[in-house]
Amino acid sequence: MTTVLTGETFESFDPATGEVVGTYPVHTAEQVEAAVARARDAAVWWDSLGFAGRAERLAAWRAALAKRMPELCGVITEETGKPAGDAQLELVLAIEHLAWAAKHARKVLGPQRRSPGLLLSNQAASVEYQPLGVVGVIGPWNYPVYTPLGSISYALAAGNAVVFKPSEFTPGVGKWLVESFAEAVPEHPVLQLVTGLGDTGAALTRAGVDKIAFTGSAATGKKVMASAAETLTPVVIEAGGKDPLLVDADADLDAAADATVWGAFSNAGQTCAGVERVYVHERVYDEFVAKVVAKAEDVDAGEQYGPMTMPAQLDVVRRHIQDALAAGGRALVGGADAVGDRYVKPTVLVDVPEDCSAVREETFGPTVTIAKVADMDEAVDRANDSAYGLGSTVFSKARGMELARRLRTGQTAINAPLSFAGIASLPFGGSGESGFGRIHGPEGLREFARPKAIARQRFTAPIALTSFARSKKTEAIIGKLMAKLHGKG
Ligand code: NDP
Repeated sequence: MTTVLTGETFESFDPATGEVVGTYPVHTAEQVEAAVARARDAAVWWDSLGFAGRAERLAAWRAALAKRMPELCGVITEETGKPAGDAQLELVLAIEHLAWAAKHARKVLGPQRRSPGLLLSNQAASVEYQPLGVVGVIGPWNYPVYTPLGSISYALAAGNAVVFKPSEFTPGVGKWLVESFAEAVPEHPVLQLVTGLGDTGAALTRAGVDKIAFTGSAATGKKVMASAAETLTPVVIEAGGKDPLLVDADADLDAAADATVWGAFSNAGQTCAGVERVYVHERVYDEFVAKVVAKAEDVDAGEQYGPMTMPAQLDVVRRHIQDALAAGGRALVGGADAVGDRYVKPTVLVDVPEDCSAVREETFGPTVTIAKVADMDEAVDRANDSAYGLGSTVFSKARGMELARRLRTGQTAINAPLSFAGIASLPFGGSGESGFGRIHGPEGLREFARPKAIARQRFTAPIALTSFARSKKTEAIIGKLMAKLHGKG
């Protein structure tokens, strides 16, 4: 069930059965560098196609993804263990993002006029966003299509070539994606695959790419940033979260309980922006907890979500539950016994001290802690008291927007779980241990582009400022002008 290295290859497994489902090469640093060199040539061609040419080819790829959805879902399920419906959901969202990125690239990245200001009104000012060149994408295993495509689609639409290193747990999904792209865009290797373990990912960070887009743990994100720093290669890091959900006294408790259960347990809790902590107004705490317990008891591990994709995660989930129970927490559903050999049953924890690992560290499993708060100010304070800052959810009829604004996370969903992830026009990313930079939306397109500012002189200015011909009289006029323009504050 773990990844096995056999010489120059490694095997991937079905986490539900332990059966070997594929063998892939471990690419060396030299092979990664060669891929980046090929990508550099391909990037020149891809850029030359312009926005329209790229949009046409990305549409062909999108059509292939949409038509062959069941086939790709099969590969996702085989390597992650997630149910077909969940595999389809991540693919559907990924296709929506690809469509948005291709459609909006010209508007977001194409030439835009800027005001030159009064002093330089003889200039025409504009900015346009040029591709970086080659982007290295290091992907995770939990959403092996949706997550890497959140970078790949936007990087491609911005005119870059991409070298993609999928997680060692999902190389088959990565291969399928890259092969289907090559069928749609056969001319040049605009999207390439490199496979292997952490060393192959590390090689990609040192291979001279123009940017690294990384999704995974904060610990590995720091390593990626450190090695990228050697060559001043910029990085965008999406490194998980400990996302809170707030329930106000006026909230729709059925909807909030449903969102808690789905947000915490779907995909076996292996969701970077999944619900991990819940803070509930004391007036509705008992009623809310009863609803969550009833719904959680109905969730069938194995039927409604799959096994833990990465076996080592079982130990993390077990430790967090044990820490919570040892510190006085109570498991209303599940508990330490919920962690099996491959699957973890839903676990609802209450009365867990805030300094426990179950509240402070990313669990990445189907568990949730629920805490009672005196008011929503306390809920906001406790939600924000985290090293992470990725996503959050608020259930409130009257104060949704206000509470959302006060939460120190990159995105907040109001009265629905994780809705921001499916809205392609919204940026996605975090702060603190959740990383930095943004994928998705206009911000995601600009993340993979270099702003190019151009000032074009339209006529000679009557006052020469940037010339040794500047006179004392000119300086006096400018001094007076500034006092008039800005002197009043
Ligand atoms: P990692 O952060 O170790 O792996 C993520 C990606 O980085 C994988 O492709 C991995 O390759 C690659 N990688 C590993 N080491 C290096 C390195 N030194 N340089 C460059 N790339 C590297 O996460 P894990 O898969 O080990 O999961 C650990 C924890 O991370 C989970 O328990 C969870 O808490 C969190 N996580 C968060 C995710 C998110 O969505 N933000 C997604 C996945 C995990 P390889 O797989 O071959 O080692």
